[in-house]
Amino acid sequence: MLHRVRVAPVSLDTYRDAVPAEQVAELEDLGRRLHGLRVAHINATPYGGGVSELLRSSVALECGLGLTVDWLVISGDSRFFEVTKALHNGLQGAPFVVTADLEETYVLNNRANAAALPGEYDVIIVHDPQPAALRAFSSLPTTRWVWRCHIDTAEPHPTAEQFLLRWLDGYDTLVFTMAEFVVPALRGRPIELFAPGIDPLSPKNLPVPPSLCKRVVSWHGVDTQRPLLLQVSRFDPWKDPFGVIRVFRIAREHIPGLQLALLGSMALDDPEAWRLYEQLRAEAERESDLFIGTNLTGVSFVEVNAFQRSASVVIQKSLREGFGLVVSEALWKETPVVAGRSGGITLQMEDGVGGYLVDPRDEDSFARHVVALIQDRALARTLGRLGRQRVRERFLITRYVRDELRVLARLVGQDC
Ligand code: UDP
Repeated sequence: MLHRVRVAPVSLDTYRDAVPAEQVAELEDLGRRLHGLRVAHINATPYGGGVSELLRSSVALECGLGLTVDWLVISGDSRFFEVTKALHNGLQGAPFVVTADLEETYVLNNRANAAALPGEYDVIIVHDPQPAALRAFSSLPTTRWVWRCHIDTAEPHPTAEQFLLRWLDGYDTLVFTMAEFVVPALRGRPIELFAPGIDPLSPKNLPVPPSLCKRVVSWHGVDTQRPLLLQVSRFDPWKDPFGVIRVFRIAREHIPGLQLALLGSMALDDPEAWRLYEQLRAEAERESDLFIGTNLTGVSFVEVNAFQRSASVVIQKSLREGFGLVVSEALWKETPVVAGRSGGITLQMEDGVGGYLVDPRDEDSFARHVVALIQDRALARTLGRLGRQRVRERFLITRYVRDELRVLARLVGQDC
């Protein structure tokens, strides 16, 4: 029931030139203290979405530092992933109803995965709500358990919150991206706060020569002589892709020839994405200069990289956002971002650093800022450069792994 994702270890040395020196030094120290620690990360999908991005890079680096780390993915039937997407939506504030069928589906799938868990780990880190109940159905007497929440739980639907809380009892530590996401009922429990980060060495973020970027985006039909607006996100109502299209239409009144690309990855645990994708494709057929691409129709990591480098402006119109790695990815490439003032996005940028934050539902304001950045390229470059600096200091994978290892060190008494 549990599948192991194979990840080749990456040495810390590889990062020396790309990240702040103090992060390297701290990681060396933590690697020494935690050498040989047996850790499992468990989540719901090996590809698509921010958690799989994070795990791909952090597991590789943690192994490179000398820990023994496995990445395990739970399996479930299609009903299970419908249930867990509804729970995800409920935890971000959508209406949520617990029925006997929903509960049975969630419990049976988690129980089956828990039964398959090997007992060899010192620490198990469970990511997000899909596998949260593993802890309740597993009795591994010496293992420490961490639950890592990646979603925006600032204003959950009460029924979804109550449902989740039932499964969090046995965890030793709960990790959130920001304090606003910790629901009051969890105060008093051991809580840690730290944000995700991007991997500067992944094919998604490596430097790519402008000539290659041009070739890649024009291969997809984009005219590189005209401005391009881009959103890179799973096709998810919280990322508001139809709102992005409306912003595009408003902005195009001021920037004739403006193009929009929506790139969206499909994830194993996100059945909703297919429905949205079909609706967006239908929309694109009626609209000129609107490009829709997905990882399953040929948009690879390197292509996302090229699009993020080629865009005049990146938009991230999230109504709720756990973090939004795509914001840091764009800023790392010095591409300015206009984003909704939602959840974890507010950590990554501020007005004048990286771009602009606007009310996530104010489409006129989005369009105004997009137009301003396309019309004033010097301003766009300055904001992009400031954004990259902020990402370098705060949102690279080395800082993320450092924070995660500090939590592990505290858990196993290696924190002095
Ligand atoms: N992504 C991708 N291809 C796509 C769309 C998204 O590789 O067509 C990646 C994107 O680059 C980012 C991740 O999926 O690394 C999305 O993470 P984010 O934190 O922004 O959002 P989440 O999907 O976790 O809500």
